[in-house]
Amino acid sequence: NLHSTKKLANGAEMPYLGLGVYKMTDRDETLEAITTALDLGYRAIDTAALYYNEEEVGEAIRHSSVPREDLFVTTKVWNSDQGYDNTLRAFETSLKKLDMDYVDLYLTHWPVEHKYVDTYRAIERLYDEKLIRVTGVSNHHEHHLKTILATCNVAPMVNQIEAHPYLTQEPLRAFCEQQQIAVTAWSPLGRGKVLNDETIIRIADEYNVSPAQIILRWHLQNDVIIIPKSVTASRIKENSELYHFELTNKTMQQLNALNRNERFGQNPDNFKFDF
Ligand code: NAD
Repeated sequence: NLHSTKKLANGAEMPYLGLGVYKMTDRDETLEAITTALDLGYRAIDTAALYYNEEEVGEAIRHSSVPREDLFVTTKVWNSDQGYDNTLRAFETSLKKLDMDYVDLYLTHWPVEHKYVDTYRAIERLYDEKLIRVTGVSNHHEHHLKTILATCNVAPMVNQIEAHPYLTQEPLRAFCEQQQIAVTAWSPLGRGKVLNDETIIRIADEYNVSPAQIILRWHLQNDVIIIPKSVTASRIKENSELYHFELTNKTMQQLNALNRNERFGQNPDNFKFDF
């Protein structure tokens, strides 16, 4: 159901559905979108220092009737703040903006070369200090994860990566599964660009649901956590109605076959970092 969670490597439960809030910059629009989502039953919010809306995330949560401990809040350290000491400082700033005592999940936003291992070491320290409940990274390829796994004490529990029917990420997902690293899909709808795919529209007609619901259900059946973004109440609702139908194996295979390794975001191996 709507409140389904994935059990992570340390036993913590992470909701399979969260609201992504990237590019929500208008204060009122952001507060309204989050309030709508929480009222509909969303229990996770995915933000980042880079999104400049951590204050609004905290405010919307404080004003909602959902207890803080029933929510799962993710934020991320931006590229210019990486390294051990900088990450600890960046976390403090995020916590202040959110106005919370702890964050559920803190992620390295992108693997900045020569820094991402130290960044993750700081995340481990935050975990030891119980300032975060779950450790993780984002946009890490298998080779980045292997580098971290070689020296860390607490393995990353989540990797948030770009994934949608045009970028199914099967090898990386298999590696993560083997390492007990849960996968979250960012741009689960391919920034909305996969919604016009002919095959997906045909499947949506067949199941009598929307293309967005087909894609999101496909992620769930692949055991992938989703954080679709919308500021439109009807879409926020639609994106949460994923449990009254099930895709057959044949449909799953048709969707898997749409893969063309197409990224709408940057490739972590040649990200242009703006310092
Ligand atoms: P998305 O795939 O969630 O697509 C969002 C767009 O799709 C919206 O702008 C909207 O126009 C459209 N849309 C949403 N629901 C719809 C529906 N039901 N019907 C029709 N159109 C619909 O893309 P995103 O915003 O890039 O990604 C989602 C979240 O992932 C972000 O908000 C952010 O939290 C996270 N993210 C993380 C990273 C990272 O580097 N870790 C990068 C990008 C995004």
